[in-house]
Amino acid sequence: MPEKLADAVARRRTFAIISHPDAGKTTLTEKLLLFGGAIQLAGEVKAKKDRVQTRSDWMKIERERGISVVTSVMTFEYGDHVFNLLDTPGHEDFADDTYRTLTAVDSAVMVIDAAKGIEPRTLKLFEVCRLRDIPIVTFVNKMDRESRDPFEILDEIEQKLALDTAPVTWPIGRGKSFSGTFNLANSTIRRSDADVEPEKVNGPEASQIAEMLPEFERDAFVEEMMLAQEACRPFDMQSFREGHLTPVYFGSALRNFGVRDLIEALGAVGPQPRDQEADRRTVAADEEKMTSFVFKIQANMDPNHRDRIAFVRVCSGKLQRGMKAKLVRTGKPISLSAPQFFFAKSRITADEAFAGDVVGIPNHGTLRIGDTLTEGEELLFRGVPNFAPEILRRVRLGDAMKAKKLKEALQQMAEEGVVQLFTPEDGSPAIVGVVGALQLDVLKERLQNEYSLPVDFEMARFSVCRWISAEDKGELERFISSHRADIARDLDEDPVFLAPHEFGLNYEADRWKQITFKAIKDYQ
Ligand code: GDP
Repeated sequence: MPEKLADAVARRRTFAIISHPDAGKTTLTEKLLLFGGAIQLAGEVKAKKDRVQTRSDWMKIERERGISVVTSVMTFEYGDHVFNLLDTPGHEDFADDTYRTLTAVDSAVMVIDAAKGIEPRTLKLFEVCRLRDIPIVTFVNKMDRESRDPFEILDEIEQKLALDTAPVTWPIGRGKSFSGTFNLANSTIRRSDADVEPEKVNGPEASQIAEMLPEFERDAFVEEMMLAQEACRPFDMQSFREGHLTPVYFGSALRNFGVRDLIEALGAVGPQPRDQEADRRTVAADEEKMTSFVFKIQANMDPNHRDRIAFVRVCSGKLQRGMKAKLVRTGKPISLSAPQFFFAKSRITADEAFAGDVVGIPNHGTLRIGDTLTEGEELLFRGVPNFAPEILRRVRLGDAMKAKKLKEALQQMAEEGVVQLFTPEDGSPAIVGVVGALQLDVLKERLQNEYSLPVDFEMARFSVCRWISAEDKGELERFISSHRADIARDLDEDPVFLAPHEFGLNYEADRWKQITFKAIKDYQ
């Protein structure tokens, strides 16, 4: 019998991992996929051999630099739940990609290195999650190594993030003696992730725990647990869902400890697909009609096919292969003939995907970041953000004959979110903007490889860029016409003001009180 829509939606968990580089995100991802080994989603995906393609190649630049440039999604099943794990680039030069990805998740796992505590990138990403009220589950990794005291780690989370903590598991032993996890809430232990089922024990004094510890650590463990039970908060669902409290799990992704505890927690307490704000109304996840939005475009996933994949988050209903959807930006229909699910190393044509799922839609440039797809309703999801670039450059082209080709190529790169493109009002050459310098390297490499366009970048006379608007359209027009040489249009033809430095921006903002200068623009 086909699964009911509401049931299918209720078992989806869509999340991302946030962490500082080296905390263990990659290792944890691998283990989640390993334990969630299911490649086949029962009844929903039919793997057809000829349709399975190996995701064989990432961009060359990624290999050369050994960093993850692209964001992707991995779907796996564990217990009764279907998980969509959205990967985010580790390098901060691609931060805008990460922020866009976080608009498509319902929860996040924060991975902390047990020896290092809260590091700068973790803090930054946490702040983004907080802005969006994304509930966070904490995984304290590397307990098999020399680490800080668990109480100290909990305290640091509370102090630095102003976030309440509720330890759900506790490490049995540390460093060399780390030998499993004790669940404070239901008094069970796992000796490692090889234990599929946890074992019920008789409290922290249980003989099974004592046997796992060297003799001189046993009393200390019991005392620690008494203190934890007295001093730590119990888990509270409402505080967690509102983003005020994080349940904390301890483990070692490398040595297979605590990963099952974590997946089960995501299944048990992680939020199901949320209702999504749109311009005209809130869309409930279990509505019959399909709605979705594009949060990521990725090109060159397979060098043999020059395809472009738009990653869409399904917000409501069921996306079915072969259905016609309305692309609300243009009003035109788009045929979803080959939506795809992504797994660890392969992709598979999806026959149907439910609210919460993330699927890739191959296309040749029809879809842009921020696009909304519906079954006909005139409705736009907002909130896929565009960040004011911190680096602005003019693109210098060796061969002037190719100016038109360059224009097209830049337009495409901008639609994919590789760079932002600004066209000056005064007719001078286009300006590209990026958040991190590595994005310029990616642009250069791709223009060369895909369009045979060798380019260089030269300094623009601007370093600050802000989207401008005003309630009084006449005032906006006056500002634009008196600053013509410093105004450009973005991809959507929205005006931006370019200034040589912050001082210049502040000076104008002081003089033009009715003009709003924005550093973040929501798409659409
Ligand atoms: P990422 O940069 O956050 O993706 O981190 P990685 O998963 O690449 O891990 C960084 C380094 O830490 C690698 O050398 C891993 O083998 C190591 N590592 C990850 N998890 C653990 C762990 O639980 N214990 C120990 N001892 N090392 C770990």
